Amino acid sequence: MEALKDWAMKAIQADITTLNVDAIVNAANHSLLGGGGVDGAIHRAAGSGLLEECRSLGGCRTGYAKITRGYGLPARFVIHAVGPVWRGGRRGEAEQLAGCYRKSLSIAAERGLKTIAFPSISTGIYGYPIEEAARIAVQTVKAVIGPMTDPPEVIFCCFSRQDLMVYQRLLQQRVQRNPESK
Ligand code: ADP
Repeated sequence: MEALKDWAMKAIQADITTLNVDAIVNAANHSLLGGGGVDGAIHRAAGSGLLEECRSLGGCRTGYAKITRGYGLPARFVIHAVGPVWRGGRRGEAEQLAGCYRKSLSIAAERGLKTIAFPSISTGIYGYPIEEAARIAVQTVKAVIGPMTDPPEVIFCCFSRQDLMVYQRLLQQRVQRNPESK
């Protein structure tokens, strides 16, 4: 059981648009109509069908997420999560960021998706400090999938080597600090 839970989360360095998983998560904006960073890359790789479906969704609130099909992507689905813009950390950013991870995982569970890849939401154009954001990502995912009997595999897909090192350190700490617990 313990081994299964440790394998259920991992960090890799990759372009998220290349991943052959059930769902990739997009760091989207309110409009869900595309933008820069990973959002732009996902829309370019998926093709115009994605934008068309996104138009039908009517946007999305910060801290929430909505799902579409993956179109030209290897991933079957895209879960569009709207992370907070960093405004110094006292405007509810942490709760909103955690909400992105919780809502994305809940949508994935409703659809029975077994592999899901997250970018480091809000840490690019939205300016969230990477160490803080990565800690929230790892803790939130662990809290959601920890109690599951059949958890999905969660991949933290880092664009840079520096980000990868941050996530790997957090994932290792988790194992080392609680070697006997879940
Ligand atoms: P936000 O507006 O939520 O900050 P960004 O797209 O600017 O979203 O950045 C979120 C994270 O996604 C950053 O860590 C950025 O380096 C990363 N990123 C950008 N392009 C890609 C990609 N193709 N695959 C994976 N991660 C990416």
